[in-house]
Amino acid sequence: MTRYEPKSSLHSPRFCGIRTFMRLPHVETFDGVDFAVVGIPWDDAVSHRSGARMAPEGIRRISVMLRPWNPAQNVKVFDHLSGVDYGDVDIVPGYIEDTYRRIEAAFEPLARAGVVPIAMGGDHSVTVAELRALARVHGPLAVVHIDAHVDTLDLHFGKKYTHGTPFRRVVEEGLVRPERSVQVGIRGPNYGPGDYEGSRRLGYDLITMYEIEEIGLNAVLRRIRARVGDAPVFVSLDIDAVDPAYAPATGTPEVGGFTGREILALVRGLRGLDLRGADVVEVIPALDPAEITAYLAANLMYELITLLALRRTEAGAGA
Ligand code: MN
Ligand code: MN
Repeated sequence: MTRYEPKSSLHSPRFCGIRTFMRLPHVETFDGVDFAVVGIPWDDAVSHRSGARMAPEGIRRISVMLRPWNPAQNVKVFDHLSGVDYGDVDIVPGYIEDTYRRIEAAFEPLARAGVVPIAMGGDHSVTVAELRALARVHGPLAVVHIDAHVDTLDLHFGKKYTHGTPFRRVVEEGLVRPERSVQVGIRGPNYGPGDYEGSRRLGYDLITMYEIEEIGLNAVLRRIRARVGDAPVFVSLDIDAVDPAYAPATGTPEVGGFTGREILALVRGLRGLDLRGADVVEVIPALDPAEITAYLAANLMYELITLLALRRTEAGAGA
């Protein structure tokens, strides 16, 4: 069977050729594919600065720096995985419900074929459509939602679907198991205590940045792992969870976030979970000095893909 892996930058300089994620082949196939990187260039549901529609392009450009061995996890990713850059979903600018249908139409067949989608947003509203598709195949999922914001407003400007509402919608639609789900990194000035209470009432475990400072990252990871357990899980990573010093290029920055090292450690600490899909959202390349945000986002996607590789080695070792 065909296996898909990145072009080696030892033989072909990484700045040569057409940009795909990590120099993976751009193939729209499910055959012999374990994971597919998918772009969702949509940013019409933001509440402040727009421009995340260019994130897939920006992240792809920087992702040519990624190499196949992950020393932090000691795994050669493509010894265990075959992956493709599936291209972008053709969104419909200005029309969120049509765009949702197109995202669902792209993701559902991937999930049915056993391919794990690793998505690049896009603003955070795209997660609703991804989870609709995945829940149809896998049933309701646990979610690890890493973000400065809870994104559980009911109405935002009087509207149901914006990047401030997705994590309420996915509970209402029965796409996630809130009792297995967690929101991590939450912080910043807000409208009132009801913002956090609303999330807890929906059933999420909410871990604020203030609590993380007190209990430390290892305790947070133990809490996440205990909560998710062996449920199929989706990891949704809003880049604004990271401090603007490390990820300035985003629409709704909040000071006092994770450092680059901390967010990498957080994602690496999810090893062993049954990952069925993930997204990295809210990167705005036009606001990115020296492309530092895109570089972190590309590496976070690489760490998510690494989790899939590790799961294969661990499953193999246990068999
Ligand atoms: Mn968000
Ligand atoms: Mn956010």
